[in-house]
Amino acid sequence: MDNHSKEIRSYNMSQIKSKDNKLELLVRKYLFSKGFRYRKNAKNLPGSPDIVLPKYKTVIFINGCFWHMHEGCQYSVKPKSNEEYWSEKLLRNKERDNKNQELLRRMGWNVIIVWECELKRDKKDIRLNMLYNQIKEGVIKNNY
Ligand SMILES: [Zn+2]
Repeated sequence: MDNHSKEIRSYNMSQIKSKDNKLELLVRKYLFSKGFRYRKNAKNLPGSPDIVLPKYKTVIFINGCFWHMHEGCQYSVKPKSNEEYWSEKLLRNKERDNKNQELLRRMGWNVIIVWECELKRDKKDIRLNMLYNQIKEGVIKNNY
């Protein structure tokens, strides 16, 4: 890889990262406004969930559609160049996600995934309302 493409790649990565943070912030603000209290980036749990709600035994991952291969999603498109490299890398991400979610569920956590595309302007209100119900329902499920 030459320096130029390395630079472009690290630029793209930083763009993606800041976009992710914006989505996390959106979800956190919503939860806070609804009276939920949470922890961020729990490093002690499998996959370091983005948001942890200990009271509700719930973890939330806010996943980028590309990096986490959102199935059937228009934003989950493999890059045309270096196809093999990306296929392998993204499949590894997916496998790791599945394994971490399985571990969390076995530990008794309610696991919620919020996808990047679900937080687009015209969809985000619906998604956040649904999230509210998912958190509350998780509690009911665990209690009975
Ligand atoms: Zn998606």
